[in-house]
Amino acid sequence: MRTDIAQIVRLEDYRPSDFLIDRVALDVRLHPTATRVTATLTLRPNPLGRADAPLVLDGDELNLKALALDGRALPAGAFEASPQALTIAQPPRRPFNLTIETEIDPTSNTKLMGLYRSSGNYCTQCEAEGFRRITYFLDRPDVMAVYTTRIEADRDEAPVLIGNGNRVEGGAAEGTNRHYAVWHDPHPKPSYLFALVGGRLGRVGRSFTTMGEREVDVAVYVEPGKEDRAGYALDAIERSMRWDERVFGREYDLDVFNIVAVSDFNMGAMENKGLNIFNDKYVLASPETATDADYANIEAIIAHEYFHNWSGNRVTCRDWFQLCLKEGLTVFRDQEFSSDERSRPVHRIAEVKALRARQFLEDSSPLAHPVRPTQYREINNFYTATVYEKGAEIVRMLKTIIGPEDFRRGMDLYYERCDGTAATVEDFLAAFADVTGRDLSHFSRWYAQAGTPRVTVAGTYDAAAQTYRLDFAQSTPPTPGQTEKEPMAIPVALGLVARDGRPMQATCDRVSANGVFLLDKATDRLTFTGVSAPPVPSLFREFSAPVKTTLDLSNEELLVLLRHDGDAFNRWQAAQSVALRLLVARSKGASVADADVAGTASALRAFMETDAPADPAFAALVVTLPSETDIAQEIGSDVDPDAIHRARRELRRRIGQACIEPLRRFRESLAESGAYSPDAASAGRRSLRNAALDLLAAADAALGERLAREQFESAVNMTDRLAALSVLMTLPGEARETALDRFETRYRNEPLVLDKWFMLQATIAEDATLERVMRLMEHRAFSMSNPNRVRSLVGSFAMLNQRQFNAPDGSGYDFLADIVLRTDELNPQLAARLLTSFSSWRMMEKTRQSHAKNALLRIAGKPNLSRDVGDIVARSLEEHESR
Ligand SMILES: [Zn+2]
Repeated sequence: MRTDIAQIVRLEDYRPSDFLIDRVALDVRLHPTATRVTATLTLRPNPLGRADAPLVLDGDELNLKALALDGRALPAGAFEASPQALTIAQPPRRPFNLTIETEIDPTSNTKLMGLYRSSGNYCTQCEAEGFRRITYFLDRPDVMAVYTTRIEADRDEAPVLIGNGNRVEGGAAEGTNRHYAVWHDPHPKPSYLFALVGGRLGRVGRSFTTMGEREVDVAVYVEPGKEDRAGYALDAIERSMRWDERVFGREYDLDVFNIVAVSDFNMGAMENKGLNIFNDKYVLASPETATDADYANIEAIIAHEYFHNWSGNRVTCRDWFQLCLKEGLTVFRDQEFSSDERSRPVHRIAEVKALRARQFLEDSSPLAHPVRPTQYREINNFYTATVYEKGAEIVRMLKTIIGPEDFRRGMDLYYERCDGTAATVEDFLAAFADVTGRDLSHFSRWYAQAGTPRVTVAGTYDAAAQTYRLDFAQSTPPTPGQTEKEPMAIPVALGLVARDGRPMQATCDRVSANGVFLLDKATDRLTFTGVSAPPVPSLFREFSAPVKTTLDLSNEELLVLLRHDGDAFNRWQAAQSVALRLLVARSKGASVADADVAGTASALRAFMETDAPADPAFAALVVTLPSETDIAQEIGSDVDPDAIHRARRELRRRIGQACIEPLRRFRESLAESGAYSPDAASAGRRSLRNAALDLLAAADAALGERLAREQFESAVNMTDRLAALSVLMTLPGEARETALDRFETRYRNEPLVLDKWFMLQATIAEDATLERVMRLMEHRAFSMSNPNRVRSLVGSFAMLNQRQFNAPDGSGYDFLADIVLRTDELNPQLAARLLTSFSSWRMMEKTRQSHAKNALLRIAGKPNLSRDVGDIVARSLEEHESR
């Protein structure tokens, strides 16, 4: 274990590397416990570096076997080697070759960083700092080299050998039953994009012709026997390649593109050049084993990793502070892809729900940080919702402000200028500043300032003058290390809606032709003229900026928007706002007029009867109440998760009872007919039908149980089966336990499906759940060393079961602390990720807060914590001035 409590790395300390590496020749002889790696690095002094600097190569738990400079063994006094570094005090001041031999043990590598084994196969994960666990290296993204990799292995153990780039050679190797393959990647790349795979794998593939007529062999490798579940992923690759050509003009640049699915993986997937490695849950899909949501995730993640080939690989990051440069941009690109492939408004709502649930939460927690952080203790802890999702929102706002044509011209210029380089956020913004002639320095605050801005808006109608005035004020709360905040540049897409539902033709010269006003001062005012009647303002259409809004609209006005707004996002938002207002009041113990509840229920009923059938996917989102996390965030302090749970259950019951007839009709009219298809329209029908089931069960438990049992038994796809089972989870009793048993029996040999089974049980909002989770940890399919298993059972309990994780006696916190400490010894990244469930602890009421604090202090007090966990626990406990 690393015991250093954290050197802080600072952006302001960046300086270029003293040496560069032009070429890397690797010879990797795979062996379960003693893999030999011989790396020959072609180095030269960097003209931008220091002239007298020593050569210091990074290592992590390495074991040096031999070292030679220009072919001659280095004498013992000429270098120093430890597991963490290899230092040559007096390296040549000219180009030279350094040959380094190390021995590593992939089988005992439970951190899943560097070279490790997953279900017997060899694979690698090098981002951010895993390559240094394979060989000593200048392991930083601005050192870019051309790699040639020879991989050798036992034919029986690893008949398939894959590296980055194109395969150039292969055949029998010396020794009984050994073979090898040589892969060459002509594109210079940073070490974090290195990958190799060796194992027994099944393959599905096809040929793709790029717009420049390059023939590419596209393939997906999976566990043998599961080839028939890789078709959707293969199809998604082809659609991604075509989309990036059409929308961004980006073409693929190698002869092969390979994806390998592995079952032990810390993240979703990794964009290694030409050889993406995926968590198998984001590759494998069949109607029997995957839900509609799984299909959509597979499509999005395949696209994301593929798009990195340009936004990340061809143009990479200068240093890890620039992580958002590749991640924010690539998330934006995959969101646009999914919107084009599916329904844009439905997808936008899903993105915003996720942003609020994860990023807004992070932004208001002790872990808040800017999209481009200025310091870190452990970079693995900055693969966050802020860097990814808020990073994507920044790119989206940029496009909203400058318009789609200039956005595309700016992207083209960025790629043209920065191709083959390691770039910064400044390089990115400069491309857009140059094509538009705009000064983007104010806009760039989005990268530097943490916290979610709040925009308060007040509307005033003047009947005599026929004007409508909107007064805006913005502020951003303090976050760790940032007490004073500057105003942000916030694009507000807006429109006015008449009370009878027609759009209004009012004018205001500060609103652009596409309906956008740029709020860049602390306060500002818009005046619309020619307004013949009091309008209802529709603000932040399509969620044009990642902000919280305070706008005092009556329920009646919100319901006008729900029925009539031309912007689908705001129709959904209106329904959420009405419900959230009731839920917050109820959760705080305030009295709520029965007429308000009845009014909301009848508006939803009207929506179901008239509007819902036209777009079932959208309707399913409208009739789903804000989550317990949404409510907690809106309340903000002194939160009582039990009260929130009760308030939400009660409102679901009332809405369900008021809407029984339309809900029953959806059950019938949307019944599945014909073969399963994962397309967006079919998925939308299933989602409304299942949302109806959920509300019916809330209205009438006996009816819900009967319908859910029937659907569970008769379902012909996983989406419907799982939806039925999740409704049964809300209804205690024998039917639930019987269904759980049957599900387990049916999928006993399907680890990814059993993950869903673990997840559902971990999220039951009852007191006995913690005991159940502990019991399930003894289940034969559970394993503490597999991140997917741990996330489904323990992660779901901590992140999705607000009520039981935050149990008032502190038992949920204690349990998670135990698991974090146990996991930290095996897999620090996974442990740190679990620990972030505590990020909302300061929001809780006093008793829960003190239990959470004690659990955090217990973790902090454990000697030899990993840097990953040590960093998160320290930041979670830090006091800062916003509290
Ligand atoms: Zn990414």
